[in-house]
Amino acid sequence: MYERSKDLLQLNLTRMSAEEEYPDLSQHNNHMAKFLTLDMYKELRGRATSSGFTLEGLIQTGVDNPGHPFIMTVGCVAGDEETYEVFKELLDPVIEDRHGGYKPSDKHKTDLNPANLKGGDDLDPNYVLSSRVRTGRSIRGFCLPPHCSRGERRAVEKLSIEALDSLSGDLKGKYYALKNMTDAEQQQLIDDHFLFDKPVSPLLLASGMARDWPDARGIWHNDNKTFLVWVNEEDHLRVISMQKGGNMKEVFNRFCTGLTKIETLFKDRGHAFMWNEHLGYVLTCPSNLGTGLRAGVHVKLPNMSKHAKFEEVLKRLRLQKRGTGGVDTAAVGGVFDISNADRLGFSEVELVQMVVDGVRLLVDMEKKLEKGQSIDDLMPAQK
Ligand code: ADP
Ligand code: MG
Repeated sequence: MYERSKDLLQLNLTRMSAEEEYPDLSQHNNHMAKFLTLDMYKELRGRATSSGFTLEGLIQTGVDNPGHPFIMTVGCVAGDEETYEVFKELLDPVIEDRHGGYKPSDKHKTDLNPANLKGGDDLDPNYVLSSRVRTGRSIRGFCLPPHCSRGERRAVEKLSIEALDSLSGDLKGKYYALKNMTDAEQQQLIDDHFLFDKPVSPLLLASGMARDWPDARGIWHNDNKTFLVWVNEEDHLRVISMQKGGNMKEVFNRFCTGLTKIETLFKDRGHAFMWNEHLGYVLTCPSNLGTGLRAGVHVKLPNMSKHAKFEEVLKRLRLQKRGTGGVDTAAVGGVFDISNADRLGFSEVELVQMVVDGVRLLVDMEKKLEKGQSIDDLMPAQK
């Protein structure tokens, strides 16, 4: 498939001018569309990474999905590790804009030592229904899901099964290939919040990540489903630790231990994860660069979520909200998915700390509002 895209590139470069090829971005509200001028398009359209990933592969998802007038989407995806270097004229400003001014010269810090987290085992389970931490990892040397070939995707799956099969103790588990699951089994795992959705999201479809579905996709999990790894969805690997209740400390402990073991198992087999000092862990979507970490809780906030200051409080705490059915879903019955808004420029420990401290405050506010009291004295400063 690389050869095909490279050939097409050559053909178009000679047959069509940049003006004739330039996409209509006039209705768009995404980071890519904001920066891809005709001049930049002219400069970048002839480039390809060594695996043959081109500008068109990078931007197609953002061309097809204009975004929402109020919600700025990213509008581009990487096809391999080199993408971020080869197309830096476009990706540097996208990253800076998306990640709160993160500059090309900035360095990212990684901290996966759970002992550095303060507290986190004390979130009130009457309000915090479940806690979860996830990240993505990419295996160096393989193209990323928008661009990988069928064979590469299968190789990633095979490597993952071999590595994960070596986990032991609490982390011992089994791999379930999507194509060996019945529809009902798959739906049950989705409904129970363990498995990624069917390929319905425009991001997955327009970026090319859903090609050959369900080939080489699957989920690995331990017996009690507290440690899970998704294989070949949006990233090569998505590593997840989760459990019922509000003990984020335990969740983060398991997350760090499991993730570090997985990294070692891959290294033992000669495969490092994509990482560099500037971008941290390199992932498919530029919005996930850095830690790739989303630490979140499902939390009952029926009063707080109706309060006029709800959005402002979340912003000051650097948190984001979603519905509990995943991204793009609305909250039902006042239960929200509250998680860190940042990925890059803060360490894993710092991000989980923001969630722990922020959620504790949100629950305190909820309790005050229940009693009809004011929350003015609890308003946090901007983090
Ligand atoms: P992400 O892409 O960050 O992993 P999504 O919003 O796409 O998250 O959700 C993926 C799945 O994980 C959904 O089924 C969602 O309900 C579930 N999920 C996310 N956070 C939690 C949580 N704190 N507790 C339980 N399930 C969760
Ligand atoms: Mg998702």
